[in-house]
Amino acid sequence: MPSMPPEPFRIKMVEPLKKTMRAEREKFLSQAGYNLFQVRAEDVYIDLLTDSGTSAMSNHQWAALMHGDESYAGARSFYHLKNVIDDIFGFRHFVPTHQGRAAENILAGLLVKPGDSIPNNSHFDTTGANIRAAGGNPVDLVISEAHDPELRHPFKGNMDVQKLEQFIQETDVDHIPFGMITVTNNAGGGQPVSMENIKAVAEVYRRHSIPFFIDACRYAENAYFIQQREDGYSDRSIKSIAQEMFSLADGCTMSAKKDGLVNIGGLLCTNDAVLFERIKQALILREGFPTYGGLAGRDLEALAVGLGEAIDAEYLAYRIAQTAYLGDGLRSVGVPIVEPPGGHAVYIDAGAFLPQIPLDEFPGQALAIEIYLQGGIRAVELGSVAFAYVDAHTGVTIHPPLELVRLAIPRRVYTQSHLDFVIETLKEIVARKDLLRGVRIVEQPELLRHFTAEFALI
Ligand SMILES: *Cc1c(COP(=O)(O)O)cnc(C)c1O
Repeated sequence: MPSMPPEPFRIKMVEPLKKTMRAEREKFLSQAGYNLFQVRAEDVYIDLLTDSGTSAMSNHQWAALMHGDESYAGARSFYHLKNVIDDIFGFRHFVPTHQGRAAENILAGLLVKPGDSIPNNSHFDTTGANIRAAGGNPVDLVISEAHDPELRHPFKGNMDVQKLEQFIQETDVDHIPFGMITVTNNAGGGQPVSMENIKAVAEVYRRHSIPFFIDACRYAENAYFIQQREDGYSDRSIKSIAQEMFSLADGCTMSAKKDGLVNIGGLLCTNDAVLFERIKQALILREGFPTYGGLAGRDLEALAVGLGEAIDAEYLAYRIAQTAYLGDGLRSVGVPIVEPPGGHAVYIDAGAFLPQIPLDEFPGQALAIEIYLQGGIRAVELGSVAFAYVDAHTGVTIHPPLELVRLAIPRRVYTQSHLDFVIETLKEIVARKDLLRGVRIVEQPELLRHFTAEFALI
């Protein structure tokens, strides 16, 4: 197996993990209706459900909590955060929000009118849902290479600039209140976007006078990929790459639960003074006063420190190597993954891995269940359970292009030996994968069924 740089930290406080027996896990899972979202976290050994809000904070961040200024207005902690955001992001105005989706909700609520369209490489589910909730239409224009799981492309999150240009030509620009790009492209496998692509997309938006917002959740991981893979950036610092990325846009939304290295928080930034006035009014209504926006003063302090730590080159080298290590390990034991591994997660191609299970018996869910039963590891299905839908006109079920299971890696939480355990678990599953059977849905809600549906084993 390939080597990995040692963790660039040592462990000062530990949180015990509980190992369970397979028979216990069978009981937990049947009580949970075979839905991993319904399993108690303490019954999970290694939790790879998400990298969102699951980061371990540093000693500096924990110390910063004690400096939190809980004043309602104009708190010192706000200005600490503002200094960091002015430096890295450089937008003229910003407000904190309690999560990324709150920033999206405010932006879409203010700018999207029924019938409008918002282009993006791939909208994350909350981004798309907030645009739809305002009557708009989220449009995904990622490059076609992104749909081929075996294809290795250095910037598989890029937007198709020609498709974007064509889309704008065909749509009245009055019905495109803003355009986006998501770095890295979460819905597309955590794949990075090149600076060249961000520049080209910014140029198209600018030429058509369409304000450009970056979904910046994993901007630091994206900047690292640019430094490693794009010509002309190998000598540049992560911060200067991030500054260049943001200088191309008019604003951003961000979930600080990713590259903010905190457990809660979000941001909404803009250069537009008029829009900012409206954002502040909406924020006061829904989140809080503009200098705290739904967060405690201590949260603002932890975020101010976390943003700085997340652009540290040594941290990022370890972080991205960890993801590559898990991807390489899984591939080496015969598990097909989306290539190349992205920034925050490894995606298993469950459709290719379990060809004996038809799509309407949910191979991704079957694999996620088996991974938990075998190793107590929690992954998330991102396939037919999450994304299939019945076409209203034909009554035919439309399956998503890929049937995936995602192993997301929380930041600074698990060590290399935890990842070795994950690889070992999958190796054991490979040995008897032909015996695995599918599942059927027993009960499901109307919307977002993957969170609460109940299943039975076939
Ligand atoms: C997590 C995420 C969001 C939403 O952020 P929350 O903090 O979960 O509300 C938006 N976009 C992307 C790309 C994300 O990964």
